[in-house]
Amino acid sequence: MAVQTVAGNATTATPDLGPAAALSCRECGERFELGPLFACASCFGPLEVAYDLPTGSPEELRKRIEAGPDNIWRYAPLLPVPADVADKPNINPGFTKLVKADNLARELGVTGGLYVKDDSGNPTHSFKDRVVAIAVEAARAFGFTTLSCSSTGNLAGAVGAAAARAGLRSCVFIPHDLEQGKVVMAAVYGGELVGIEGNYDDVNRFCSELIGDPLGEGWGFVNVNLRPYYGEGSKTLAYEICEQLGWRLPDQIVIPIASGSQLTKIDKGLQELIKLGLVEDKPYKIFGAQAEGCSPVSAAFKAGHDVVRPQKPNTIAKSLAIGNPADGPYVLDIARRTGGAVEDVTDEQVVDAIKLLARTEGIFGETAGGVTLGVTKKLIEAGVIDPTLTTVVVNTGDGLKTLDAVSATSQATATIKPSLDAFRAAGLGTA
Ligand SMILES: *Cc1c(COP(=O)(O)O)cnc(C)c1O
Ligand SMILES: [Zn+2]
Repeated sequence: MAVQTVAGNATTATPDLGPAAALSCRECGERFELGPLFACASCFGPLEVAYDLPTGSPEELRKRIEAGPDNIWRYAPLLPVPADVADKPNINPGFTKLVKADNLARELGVTGGLYVKDDSGNPTHSFKDRVVAIAVEAARAFGFTTLSCSSTGNLAGAVGAAAARAGLRSCVFIPHDLEQGKVVMAAVYGGELVGIEGNYDDVNRFCSELIGDPLGEGWGFVNVNLRPYYGEGSKTLAYEICEQLGWRLPDQIVIPIASGSQLTKIDKGLQELIKLGLVEDKPYKIFGAQAEGCSPVSAAFKAGHDVVRPQKPNTIAKSLAIGNPADGPYVLDIARRTGGAVEDVTDEQVVDAIKLLARTEGIFGETAGGVTLGVTKKLIEAGVIDPTLTTVVVNTGDGLKTLDAVSATSQATATIKPSLDAFRAAGLGTA
């Protein structure tokens, strides 16, 4: 076992993280004991959780999952969490709706089945509750007392809520110029919220410095020193989508990209389901979505590059505004390996897509959802996404947090006196 580079100086009792066996380097494969580590001591590659996955029959495991709670803990045997996780105070996200979007399908000309995985239904209204719920269990296991993060907005709210429920202190960091809905959501749970004068990449750099400093001792940064555990939460999106399709892989999935963690872990989750025999093995394609104003991965994909050149973000899709995405190269690998693609859309197309989803399916997504549906539409029109195959679009957040994106064009149709005459004059009645 190699020497560990322990970040955060938490206590080091043997952690009970269920089937998690070790951390392994995504670059060189070296293994490390479970701990608050995120970079390989040999090659500085990112670490991920390696498992002793269940061995029984797929039927047995499927039954066990189906008998579990209606949240991500039904998949506890596949996650780095203790077996009794469902009994601990956590915000219990997941098992959000997979909506069969027939109206939207008609509008886009999709005949093979179009679904929206709607993660706005999570406790703090974004997919970030999934990753934070897992990070909380790691923080507990490693004895951290303060929960922290660098955030583009949604993560700060999810950390605030989860820490409140778990009885931990929280202190989270965001770019100072976020949407009001994100700021209030992050502050209301009573933890500390710090606005940093800079963009997300500045916030992230600041947090990396804080981790190495006595000021940050005993702090679990969910997306930095707890990142290997945090990332595993996104696998549950893959599990749920397949279970909700009747234990079947979709043909095509469209996923938004900020750091790229979610996309890479959805792929990891699909691979695990295949390996465990929970779904039948068949090809699937993964598509990544970015906003044009922050499209470093899309640019690299189109240029045929393996590395991602950082950008300075400028887009209304602030939750995706990471100019230097940590998992960018892995996203490129996955898009190319599965035969998918990475594409971007303009802010105007983002707004149009938010309204399209709302108008056709009654789902109000945030700007990230607009990015994902906008890219889906663009790739269907370009003949890259096959309309005759089963397609899942992931809506990762709630439009109530990004009202500014649509408020200019979403106002009262008319304002009238409370009389039938006035209503008649407005021309909105049947007669
Ligand atoms: C954070 C976030 C994402 C993407 O996150 P990754 O860093 O790529 O895992 C997507 N949608 C919303 C709404 C988010 O808040
Ligand atoms: Zn390594």
